[in-house]
Amino acid sequence: TQRFIWPMAQFGQIINMYQRARASAARVFGLMDEPSRLGENPDADELVVEEGRVEYDDVTFGYDAEPTVSDVDFTVAGGETLALVGPTGAGKSTVLKLLLRMYDVDEGAIRIDGQDVRDVTLPSLRRSIGYVGQSSYLFYGTVRENITYGTFDASDEAVVEAAKAAEAHSFIENLPDGYDTMVGERGVKLSGGQRQRLTIARAVLADPEILVLDEATSDVDTETEMLIQRSLDRLTTDRTTFAIAHRLSTIKDADTILVLEGGEIVERGTHEELLETDGLYANLWGVQAGEIDDLPQEFIERATE
Ligand code: ATP
Repeated sequence: TQRFIWPMAQFGQIINMYQRARASAARVFGLMDEPSRLGENPDADELVVEEGRVEYDDVTFGYDAEPTVSDVDFTVAGGETLALVGPTGAGKSTVLKLLLRMYDVDEGAIRIDGQDVRDVTLPSLRRSIGYVGQSSYLFYGTVRENITYGTFDASDEAVVEAAKAAEAHSFIENLPDGYDTMVGERGVKLSGGQRQRLTIARAVLADPEILVLDEATSDVDTETEMLIQRSLDRLTTDRTTFAIAHRLSTIKDADTILVLEGGEIVERGTHEELLETDGLYANLWGVQAGEIDDLPQEFIERATE
């Protein structure tokens, strides 16, 4: 039926680890370092993150009169990973923009450890939430400056530790001036995989309690892919993580997967639970099974029926 046509095509892209990064100029997180247009509540307190529990309480929001996301309701326990999947335009990025308070909800509330994001100062909110993704950028400056960006009191040892955790240390050492090599526009050209690892090192150093991961993959070889995966695993362990998931491993290992369609949560659960309920998500997997090695045989059979 109609309902299943778009997602099949979409999911083919989402779960293909080597998909080329979608060139979407509208990627929301280019906004990440822009000041929010929203006013700050004069009584705002500093956000205090203890567990990192994030709660969306019946959130509805629209850029205009029409709601873009409706009745989004879920809780992520501290340290867990929530994967958002769904087709282009389903509202995945919008859900995360609301967490960062790029926009305020029209209805409902978003709370971090019980604190409404509208009642905390924006700098404390943004500091607590790190971002790694395709629009995280490098500026013209040294490798070290790019890693310490936003973390002002980092020692050289801490920078190297972060680079090691991000699997970036060895390629940095091989650059002409090591950590003092100029990168970014006009600087030494880095591959997509190297740039990603530098931004992961930046996030490791900043050590935010909550992480937003927009995992678009660039064209990287298998070994780089593996290094990136390993560094991301390290980064997300024990940290509340929201992933706009493109990597198979993230989707499968997420504590909760939300399947969004037309701004609504249409399914939720773990990978196994969603396969068992035999709904939209399972269908998508079945269809894609031919491209995936480690699926249960029954799904491969279904896909090839
Ligand atoms: P993708 O996978 O392509 O990134 P997505 O699931 O993240 O898609 P969103 O980017 O959240 O989807 O977009 C949801 C809807 O909101 C889309 O119809 C989009 O065109 C619209 N939209 C996104 N940003 C804006 C904006 N700044 N102003 C108006 N409409 C917007």
